[in-house]
Amino acid sequence: MRFYILFLLAGLISFHGYTQSPKEDKAKLVVGIVVDQMRNDYIDRFWYRYGEDGFKRLVNQGYRFKNGHFNYVPTFTGPGHASVFTGTSPMNHGIIGNNWFDKTNGEFVYCAGDAEVTPVGTLDRAGKMSPHRMLVTTITDENRLATQMRGKTIGIALKDRGAILPAGHTANAAYWFHGKKEGKWITSSYYMDKLPNWVDAFNNSGKAQSYLRPWDTLYPIETYVESGSDLNEFEQGFKGKETATFPYDIDKLKAENDNYEILKAIAYGNDLTTDFAMAAIDGENLGKNSDTDILTLSYSSTDYVGHNFGVNSKEIQDTYLRLDKNIADLLNFLDERVGKDNYIVFLTADHAAVEVPAYLESVNIPAGYFDTKGFIEKAKDFVEEKYGDKNLIENISNDQVFFNYGLLDQMGIESKELQEKLAAFILSQDKIHRVYTRNQIVSGAYEKSMEALIKNGFNHKRSGDVAYIMEPSVISYPRQGSTHGSSYVYDTHVPMLFYGKGIKEGSTSRRSEIVDIAPTIATLLGISFPNATTGEPLFRMLED
Ligand SMILES: [Zn+2]
Repeated sequence: MRFYILFLLAGLISFHGYTQSPKEDKAKLVVGIVVDQMRNDYIDRFWYRYGEDGFKRLVNQGYRFKNGHFNYVPTFTGPGHASVFTGTSPMNHGIIGNNWFDKTNGEFVYCAGDAEVTPVGTLDRAGKMSPHRMLVTTITDENRLATQMRGKTIGIALKDRGAILPAGHTANAAYWFHGKKEGKWITSSYYMDKLPNWVDAFNNSGKAQSYLRPWDTLYPIETYVESGSDLNEFEQGFKGKETATFPYDIDKLKAENDNYEILKAIAYGNDLTTDFAMAAIDGENLGKNSDTDILTLSYSSTDYVGHNFGVNSKEIQDTYLRLDKNIADLLNFLDERVGKDNYIVFLTADHAAVEVPAYLESVNIPAGYFDTKGFIEKAKDFVEEKYGDKNLIENISNDQVFFNYGLLDQMGIESKELQEKLAAFILSQDKIHRVYTRNQIVSGAYEKSMEALIKNGFNHKRSGDVAYIMEPSVISYPRQGSTHGSSYVYDTHVPMLFYGKGIKEGSTSRRSEIVDIAPTIATLLGISFPNATTGEPLFRMLED
């Protein structure tokens, strides 16, 4: 009997050893951070203003790719988040815009919109979301498959698409923020039928409300010499305040700016996101089990602030100095909860942004504005004049023209002919730089330069029939604030920072691409690449 017990004990010990030891080398938690609209140069521009524990810790104790780029156009939030986590570009993952014209149904669709699911945590249609339009797996999906669904995935962002696409198809949960009169973190029936207790507790804690306080600069504004003057003609600002200048009385402004929605558009939105991420780490016990968990965390407020005030504004500078503190708090929290050498963090962006063209013009740099509405009319008039029916153009969106194939057939017009005629017409228009036809994109062996970006962003089924590129620093946008979406470096050049278990210290100026992130994380975890990966592991920073 005694021998039998000893034998059993020995068996248990060795069994235990067998199941545990191979995993001890793996990180217990991966935190994938996307900072919405973060330009690579924000790291350098504000470097001396950052503390030691935030961006600087990631850079000094981790690996920085200084020349990291998106490898496709259009550089928008939906495609950006999908590309970071799938290791491929819209040509494969199918998220070709935030919204796009869906040819099969002849209607406009939203990248995360899903009529089949119901909201959870709200009755508002803001909860009708899922990743169903994304055609491939994410690194988070692959981790779920590799751990027999034991390793958890939680996705968090103020923006639904920033939470949903990174978390993939198999996520335990994705949470996003519904502002308006509710000010709550919500989800959809795609993930669950009811919010977990920790989410309810957070929603009822008064945290969101606590951020409806005045927004002034973190440090004296006269020390913000890395950004433009606070009062200028290149910023939009908030309804209810005449100038786009500090300080902002958020509690007073909220009524005219859709109540809690205003939190998304100020620096405090990132504080709220960090608070919620920490609550999720505790509430879901992330990083506490033998299987790796993944938290995807996207900071959305940076994008709203950039759109509203422009990349050169005091508001942007303040938002990044505050975000630096959020990152520091999060890293310290991870040290405490998961343990210093037990996690991996990467930080990147979903796209960057352009300097406000009106500002560039004011300092004699070629820039400008493209009148998309006027352009659409002209293109339709052209087609009507040539063929007698303007409806041959079904839709123009995301800098692409979509044909009405049925009508083309009926009228006996070859698509190739219309592509070429229209391309020549579009190229003759003011502020247009290049034009590509579907036939060129599909058959061209484009590997480099703008042609490659067009090709990588072009999904053969979902994309249009003629694609155009505007001149550098020309945007279709109001004269105040920044935007993004182009193939130029000001939109493609983003931070790529890696920190933690298995990652060397160092940096490189060699080119790397966003699609390299997912296969790099897969290599670190020893799991499969997402199923349509086109990127490559960033071997420079991996320990052999
Ligand atoms: Zn944006």
